[in-house]
Amino acid sequence: MNTLIYLDNAATTRVRPEVVEAMKPFFEEQYGNPSSTYTFAGKIHEEVENARKTIADFIGAKPKEIFFTAGGSESDNWALKGIAFSQREKGKHIITSKIEHHAILNTCSYLEKLGMEITYLDVDQNGLVDPVELEKAIRPDTILISVMFANNEIGTIEPVKEIGRIAHEHGILFHTDAVQAYGHVDINVSDMNIDLLSVSGHKINGPKGVGFLYVRSGIRIEPFVHGGSQERGKRAGTTNVPGIIGLGKASEIARDTLESRKAYESDLRDHLIERIEKEIPYALLNGDRTQRLPNNVNFCFRFIEGESLLILLDQNGICGSSGSACTSGSLDPSHVLLAIGRPHEIAHGSLRLTLSEDNTLEEIDVTVDRLKEIVDRLRSMSPLYEDFVKKEENK
Ligand SMILES: *Cc1c(COP(=O)(O)O)cnc(C)c1O
Repeated sequence: MNTLIYLDNAATTRVRPEVVEAMKPFFEEQYGNPSSTYTFAGKIHEEVENARKTIADFIGAKPKEIFFTAGGSESDNWALKGIAFSQREKGKHIITSKIEHHAILNTCSYLEKLGMEITYLDVDQNGLVDPVELEKAIRPDTILISVMFANNEIGTIEPVKEIGRIAHEHGILFHTDAVQAYGHVDINVSDMNIDLLSVSGHKINGPKGVGFLYVRSGIRIEPFVHGGSQERGKRAGTTNVPGIIGLGKASEIARDTLESRKAYESDLRDHLIERIEKEIPYALLNGDRTQRLPNNVNFCFRFIEGESLLILLDQNGICGSSGSACTSGSLDPSHVLLAIGRPHEIAHGSLRLTLSEDNTLEEIDVTVDRLKEIVDRLRSMSPLYEDFVKKEENK
C-alpha cells in the first residue's frame, strides 16, 4: 500500500502518466519551434492547434479565443490588467469579491496604486456572492466584474451564470478565475455569459507552468507579455509546446472522465464530511454544502491550531493544508475564512482536504481515524478547551 495519503489536490495534482507520455515526444524528437516555416515545425504547430481546439470545445469556445499562458496567476493578471488598460477611456472601476485567490486580489491592489478603484464584495456565511449586492455595486464607470468560479479554499461554487447575466445587462465584461472549476464541473462560456476565463494546467493533472486565458472574440485586451507575435500577437514568448500538449491531453482526459469523477469524488467527499461531523465534536464545515466542488472538504476545529494539525497529520503521511498554499507560511488566518465570518481564533483551526480520483475510501477512513486522535490529543493540551468543557458541563 502507498503510505502517502495525498489530500491536497487544490494545491497541485499528480501529472497523469498518459499526459507525461503525450508530452515526451515534444522534448525529444519533435523539439522544433512551431513558429518556424519548415515541415518539421509545421507538424508541431498542428499539434498545438489540436490542443487549442480540444480545450475550446470543452468550454464551448472557439479555438481563436484560447490564449496559452504560463498558468493561472498569469491568466488572472492578464485578464485584469489587460482589460484595465484597454478600457481606461471607459472607466476605472472593477468589481471583485473578498474571497478571490491572491492572483486576483494582489493584482487588484496593484491596479489601485495605478488609480483604479476596486469594490470587494462581501460573501455570505457559505462564501456565496449575492447577485443583488453585485448589481448595487455597479457604477457608470465599471469596466469589469471578476468573480471566481469556485473557491480554492472552501470549494464554494459561485452563481457565475447569474453574475454574467447582470454584467452583460449593464454592458460590463465578466471574468472568472476558473482554475479550481475547470475539469471538475461543467463549464460553457456562452451559456454562462463568461467573457474571460482563467485556467491552470497543474490543477487538473497536467503540467505546472502552463494555462490559458479564454477571451471572447471581439473583446479588446492589451497584451500582457510583449515581444514576438505568438498567440495572435497577444502573448509573446516561444510556444511552450510540451506544456500545451500536456494541458491538451489533461483536458481531454478531464472531459472524458468528468461525470464519473464527479460522482466518485463527491461520494468520498460526503463520506469524509459525514464522518467528521459525526465523530469529531466542535467541527464546523466551511463552504456551501451543495454548491460545492466535488473534491473539497474544509473544516474549522475549535480550540486547535491548523498548523499543529498539519504537522501531526504529516507525521502520519497525510498531506492536507490549512487555508491555501499561498497563505501557509504566514500566520495570518485565511482571508476567505474571515470573509465568511469565522472569528480569528476559529479561522486558525482550519483544515482543507482536497481529493482526487486516486484517493480510496480506505484512505479517507484512515484519515478520519488519525484526525480524531490528533484533534483529541491537541485539545487535551488546550487550557481553553478544558475551560470550555467545564462550562458546558455546568450548564
Ligand atoms: C492555483 C490557483 C491559481 C494560480 O494558478 P497557478 O497556475 O499556480 O499560477 C489561481 N487561482 C486559483 C483559484 C487557484 O486555485
